[in-house]
Amino acid sequence: LSTKNRMKELAELDKKHYLHPTTPVKAHFEQGPPIIVSEGKGIYIKDVNGEEYIDGMSMLWNVNLGHGQKELAQAAQEQMSKLAYSSSFFGNSHERAIELAEKLATLTPGDLNVVFYTSGGSESNDSAFKLARYYWKVKGEPNRTKIIGLERAYHGTTLGATSATGMTEFQNFVNAKAPDFFHAKAHQTNCELGDKSDPNYEGCIRDIVEKEGPETIAAVVLEPVQGAGGVFFPPEGYLQAVRKLCDEFGILMITDEVITGFGRTGKMFGVNNWDVVPDLMTVAKGITSGYSQLGAVIMKEKIRDELVKSDDVLFHGFTYSGHPTACAVALKNLEIIERDNIVANAKNMEAVLKEGLKYLEEKHKTVTKTRALGLLAAFELYEDPESGKRFDPSFLAAHKLVDECFDRKLILRTAEWDGDNIIAIAPALIVNKQEVENIISIIDDSLTAFEKKLG
Ligand code: PMP
Repeated sequence: LSTKNRMKELAELDKKHYLHPTTPVKAHFEQGPPIIVSEGKGIYIKDVNGEEYIDGMSMLWNVNLGHGQKELAQAAQEQMSKLAYSSSFFGNSHERAIELAEKLATLTPGDLNVVFYTSGGSESNDSAFKLARYYWKVKGEPNRTKIIGLERAYHGTTLGATSATGMTEFQNFVNAKAPDFFHAKAHQTNCELGDKSDPNYEGCIRDIVEKEGPETIAAVVLEPVQGAGGVFFPPEGYLQAVRKLCDEFGILMITDEVITGFGRTGKMFGVNNWDVVPDLMTVAKGITSGYSQLGAVIMKEKIRDELVKSDDVLFHGFTYSGHPTACAVALKNLEIIERDNIVANAKNMEAVLKEGLKYLEEKHKTVTKTRALGLLAAFELYEDPESGKRFDPSFLAAHKLVDECFDRKLILRTAEWDGDNIIAIAPALIVNKQEVENIISIIDDSLTAFEKKLG
């Protein structure tokens, strides 16, 4: 088969046999996949026709060491050849899981020293919610069951994670919201900083805690930087204020570092940017740079110290929790991150990316709200940024721009909640200056084409 025919054949088979996550099913069934990828190297991927694209999103904040990293592939191969699988149920253990738990304990701040493994981000968050509830139960406060998340947060799609997710579309499409989950106003407000005169006070974390009663709240969960919701950074002092609020009422603080963990923000963990230590931290994606399926809840020793007081069985876990291959890949991934100063590179490239984004904002009339922390970046499109006039949501401005970028072989992604037109940028953490400048240059050309069509 010629590559062209192969592409067509695969597209037909995809439509026929493959139901995709977070995808408009009908449109997909009519149009087929926008891209069918076959291989990658560094920040570049190739489709089955051999066309090369820049993966400007690290495949959703994931492939942090870039595609085609041979050492990670080799670590997987070696582990699989030696020991393919071992269950961690009933207390069984294996070498790689123990080594990785110790390594994670040294990397995380404070005494986040105890690890519970999962196979991904959603599972990590559901596990954190259950562990938080279990902690309170053992402590003799079984009524502390409620979880407060933030509007526009994304925590995954298992029942607990989707219930904590702040984009209600994820719950409403099948009425999948568990009881006892609440959503506070996102951190664009300053009410958590103690300002009760904030017009948004009603609906802030503190307001919910007071209304529901602190003795019913198990935990607050938040991303240090909101990712899928639109790349929102907390205002200065916000995370510290949430930490203080949790301490004031004895509530557990869970930070979801599924995107921000392992260097994405120019620090090893997102919370390192604000010197905050949560009680539980959830990680996935970047723990293996996407080379294997792994997640974890990393908790303070005080949580484990409470749980060991109970004779109960911890009736929770997954067959693939701490899979040997995934742990071996994670160990190699963390070794490379430290050896090659990957976190410092993310910080250095932040400056290049910011400069490029400023250039775009100055040159193009629709670009505004450019932002970057490490290689977690975004900008927004407004019809008229100065007056704050937005594009009509039906115009799908962000989508149109991302399509222009795609035509120029750059893959980015949109966040279009609540009428926003946000475009996220997140290249692999191994990206170099020239590559960042190339990304900016493609966005520049795409914006020129986009704005020309506006007239
Ligand atoms: N939390 C955050 C912050 C995420 O961005 C994601 C995935 N995008 C998840 C949780 C869910 O992770 P997974 O898809 O591995 O279940």
